[in-house]
This record gives sequence, structure tokens and C-alpha cells, in this order.
Amino acid sequence: MYRKFTAHNIFNGYQVLLPKSVLITTLEGAVVDIIDKADAGDEIEFFEGLITPGFINAHCHTELSYLKGVITPNTGLVQFVQQVMKNRGLLNEVKMQAMLLAEKEMYNSGTVAVGDICNTADSIQLKQKSSLYWHNFIEVSGFTDANAIVRLEGAKNIYQEFTSQLPQPVSLSPHAPYSVSKILFSQLNNETAHQLITIHNQECSAENDLYQQKEGEFLSLYKNWGIDISGFQPTGKTSFQSWLPFFDNNQSILCVHNTFTSQADIDFYKKQAEFKAKLFFCLCVNANKYIEQKLPPIEMLRKNNCDIIIGTDSYASNWQLNILEEIKTIQQDSAGTIPLAEILQWATSNGARALQLDNRLGSFEKNKKPGIVFINHLDELQLTSKSAAKRIL
Ligand SMILES: [Zn+2]
Repeated sequence: MYRKFTAHNIFNGYQVLLPKSVLITTLEGAVVDIIDKADAGDEIEFFEGLITPGFINAHCHTELSYLKGVITPNTGLVQFVQQVMKNRGLLNEVKMQAMLLAEKEMYNSGTVAVGDICNTADSIQLKQKSSLYWHNFIEVSGFTDANAIVRLEGAKNIYQEFTSQLPQPVSLSPHAPYSVSKILFSQLNNETAHQLITIHNQECSAENDLYQQKEGEFLSLYKNWGIDISGFQPTGKTSFQSWLPFFDNNQSILCVHNTFTSQADIDFYKKQAEFKAKLFFCLCVNANKYIEQKLPPIEMLRKNNCDIIIGTDSYASNWQLNILEEIKTIQQDSAGTIPLAEILQWATSNGARALQLDNRLGSFEKNKKPGIVFINHLDELQLTSKSAAKRIL
């Protein structure tokens, strides 16, 4: 028994196929073939719009779902971080309910896999029963070398909880350049050889100010929190060029945000790429709009053939966890100049490759079971404000 799907357009993970193509799957959604309508027989399900493999949300913090609608938009990153810290400590039941709703929204809007940041073990219970794929990044921070090892041990305990209770991949990851000390970066490099990790990269300009001159907004943040940074030496380089050289153990790294990443940063990466880390560049454009009102240099990343992927970040900094809404914002920002197929590729096959799930997700290729998602209300091959994505298998 098979199911047969067709639509005005089928996107296969890489390109939009010729009209009159029909996707054949098993009843469970494993891809059997894509054939011409003339050879497909009857009982073909038709969708008015476009069908695509399921989306990969490469960056989320599901455990922060209880912050939906809580954090004031447009305050800038430093204020944002302080607001998040202030609102921790709600009841577990409230948090669990919020996570369930978050998962439901992701599933219904076509997400099949999530790169999820974890600071706690709060999300384990959710993930034990989830129908999504997860890569769990256990986040480590500690900006003074004095507490680096203690913080790392704490994160390793959470890591153990995940690996002992879930079959999903788990890795330790640095939080951000402004919250990880030199010793902690070195330790994390040792701990994560050949692994997939992630980092919040250049989300605000203050991060570059800190590394280049030991100036800027982060100094007052450390002061407020009583963090002594007298041991911190500025490198004179951007934050990106300061942290990247720590990772020389064949890691694959999802760099998230990249709002203030420059051509010089990409040149620096390309010079090292042959023998050091492999990078993916994750866009979370609606979160950038929520916090900083500035979007990353998407055109520059495209021009340099960077591997681009898409994430939503969390409800703390987004109105929804819906990849199609991210694609709409990217399309708007580029005034429609980036072909929809290219952005869809970031959200599907690129994301699957980044999360190392491309043997089963991201494209309509034989034996993969990538999920089937339908997008409606397109105008030619552009999304409209009415377009919505819905999981159909
Ligand atoms: Zn984040």
C-alpha cells in the first residue's frame, strides 16, 4: 500500500521539480519514488500549493517556552539576558505545559527535527515521548577561568542525565563568546572532538567591542552580576576570530545568529577551514527582530557559499516557533530576490546535514522518511503573508 502526493509544485529538498511530478511513499511516509503523473495511476492526493520535506529547526531552547510573551521586545541583548535570568524558577508543571505547547506548534507547522539548547534537564520528560527528532546541546558558560571547571562539571552532570534517559544525540556546547572563558573554551575543545556542537555567535555588536577593546555594554553586565573580569585580556580581534581557533578537533559547529559577522570573519574561517572546524551559519531572523532589530548579513553569507540553516530561537525571543515565518522574514528582507527553493533548502536538506540526520530527513530521496509538509497561498514561487505550513504526514 502506498500514498501518492502531488501539488502545484513539489520541492524535493534541493529544487522545485517539474509540474506533474508525483511523490510516492509508504503509508508511514518512507519515500518510494517520484514519478510522472502519467505513470502514477489513480488515488493521487492533490494539494493546492507546494509540498516540501519537513523542516529542521536548527536552534531552539524548548525549556524556555514558559517565557512566551514575557520578555519585552526591542531592548537589545544585554537587557534581554537580564530579563531571562529574572524569570527563571517557575513551577515545573507550568514549564512542562509550555514545552508541550511548543512541541505541538513545531510539529503542526512542519518541523521534524530540532537542535535544542539545554541548560537544565527540564526537557527530558518531553523528549522521551516526542515524535520529533532532537539533538540536545548541553550549554556551558562561565566567563572567569576560576569557575570554568566547576561549571563544566555541572554541565557534564546534565549531559549524563540526558544520555542515560534518552536515545538522542547529546553534546556539550559553549554558550557564547561573552560567557565562556579561555580555559573553558580549551576544555570544551578537548571534550568535543569529532562532535557536533553549537555556539551563539556575534548576536550583538557589544560582543566584538569586548574582544577588540574590552569595552562596551558587556562590562556593565558583568559588573551587575559581580563577575570579576580583571583577568580577561582583549584579543584585538572580533569575537568570532577569537573563539574559532580554540576548536581544532574536527568539530562541526552551528554558529547561531551571526548578526555582526563580517566578510573578514568569513575570510578568516575559510583560511582555517581545511584543517579545522566545519561551520554552519544558522539564521534566527525573527529573534533578531525581537531583540536587536537588526538582521544578519544574509547576502554576504550567500555570496561566500556558506552553509546556511534556519532556527527559531525560543519563545523568550520569538512570537512563534514556526520555520515558515522565518522564511517569510528572510524573503521580505531580501525583497524577494532569494529564490524560495534556496531558502527552503536551508530549512530542509541543509538543516538535516547540519544535524547529521541527512540519512533520514531533509529530502524526498528513496527510503528517507522526512515528513511531508504542505504550504498554501503562494504567489507563483513566493510566499505571501497568508502562506501557512501544515504537516500532512
Ligand atoms: Zn539561542
